[in-house]
Amino acid sequence: MKRLIIDMDDVMADATGQFINFYEKEFGIRVPRESMNHKNEMERFPGNHETVYDFTFRKDFFRKMEVKEHSQEVMKELNQKYELFIVSSAMEFPNSLPEKLEWLKEHFPFLHWKQFVFCGRKSIVHGDYMIDDLPHNLETFNGEKLLFSAPHNLQFNHFKRLNGWLEVRDYLL
Ligand SMILES: [Mg+2]
Repeated sequence: MKRLIIDMDDVMADATGQFINFYEKEFGIRVPRESMNHKNEMERFPGNHETVYDFTFRKDFFRKMEVKEHSQEVMKELNQKYELFIVSSAMEFPNSLPEKLEWLKEHFPFLHWKQFVFCGRKSIVHGDYMIDDLPHNLETFNGEKLLFSAPHNLQFNHFKRLNGWLEVRDYLL
């Protein structure tokens, strides 16, 4: 079986949407998702980046993320055909660990906890394929690098790009 590494935030879980929700709650402004196209993390919200970063330390930020469309059905199929691991660099946000674990158990009950890897830097992880929205996670990967489209990565063209889970299915199944 080939080993497939899948990222959580902005691949399985709608992290961008959660930033939009928390920003709206804090400042009363709903920033349109499309306005973030081609912008990096520092530029996508008006005002102080520190405040936005701070959302990730708040209760339920990771626990209450929406599931990305079609991810559950496609992951179920991938799980039959690949040695599948969910790899998240969760160490940056220590409070995210229990929340991410609960989130995975709720939304992806067909996965075993042995398939979850919460790590610091993803360069430790080896495999045949990696799906991630952040180019710097793909850079160090030894296998085939697959960029999952997100507003903040549309300016990158040096990886094979997959626009959503139905394209993941077409490419890997
Ligand atoms: Mg991510």
